[in-house]
Amino acid sequence: MPELPEVETTVRDLQKKILGQKIQAVWSDFKKQVKKPKNFEQFKKEIKGRKIEKVRRRGKNILFDLSGNKTLLIHQKLTGHLLVGYWVLDNGYWKPKVKGPLEEKVNTYIHLLFTFDNDQMLALSDLRKFAKVELWNTEELEKSEEMKSLGPEPLEKDFTFGKFKEILTKKKAAESEPRQRRGKIKQVLMNQTVIAGIGNIYSDEILWSAKIHPFKDVSKLNRDELKRIFQAIKNIFKRAIQLKGTSISDFRRTSGQKGYYERERKVYRREGERCPCCGKKIKRTKLAGRSAHFCPKCQKL
Ligand SMILES: [Zn+2]
Repeated sequence: MPELPEVETTVRDLQKKILGQKIQAVWSDFKKQVKKPKNFEQFKKEIKGRKIEKVRRRGKNILFDLSGNKTLLIHQKLTGHLLVGYWVLDNGYWKPKVKGPLEEKVNTYIHLLFTFDNDQMLALSDLRKFAKVELWNTEELEKSEEMKSLGPEPLEKDFTFGKFKEILTKKKAAESEPRQRRGKIKQVLMNQTVIAGIGNIYSDEILWSAKIHPFKDVSKLNRDELKRIFQAIKNIFKRAIQLKGTSISDFRRTSGQKGYYERERKVYRREGERCPCCGKKIKRTKLAGRSAHFCPKCQKL
């Protein structure tokens, strides 16, 4: 699933490519992907003619602020990724007009496509079809449980070590806050209500870098260990954005090209390979149905 660096890469691409454009047409062969409004014809009617004023990210959500105080939310979920280009409909399938990365198989599962007034197109390629598309009144979205329940953005300046420590060590969250801070560190890091944007790949990389076992209980982490995790979050996310994300699975940039962070990853999907720090073999184990990759020597429980 695209995580913070991948979603941020997409958002930065979109800011360069589609700002100021007007949505002229919407096509879909999987109308259930649009969850709000549920009726696709209604969605089409409401979105047509609106201008893209701003593209931003909140957690793993891509938010398109449109003219007339509407916001289009796209959560790419497991395999979804947004592409910008020119396609022609050929026997029910969208074929890119230009040869190149958009022809790669992973970029051809297009089930939703917007055409802009300058003929450029924005397509959602999504093999598993889990991506979520919603059209909101901007104000309503900001007040929604969906947005309000998200934890802080780890790359924001106000996400300081003090704040991070407070989030992870607070004995009991206020009752109005549904944040779960107890439990194993990997799981807590991946909980979007605790911190926004961390998923399976980067939680493994962050914990390897901080030399913390993924199953270590949060309540057992000392100040120094928390500090290392905090630093690793900032450093790894910054580096991953520089390298345009990880394309080990379906994620591609809006040009259809891959990101390069997978070359730098140290443990994720490297089971059986040598730990770059100590030479021991990387292990893979299951945690709540998800796999965790770690070095048994560098990351002791
Ligand atoms: Zn090691």
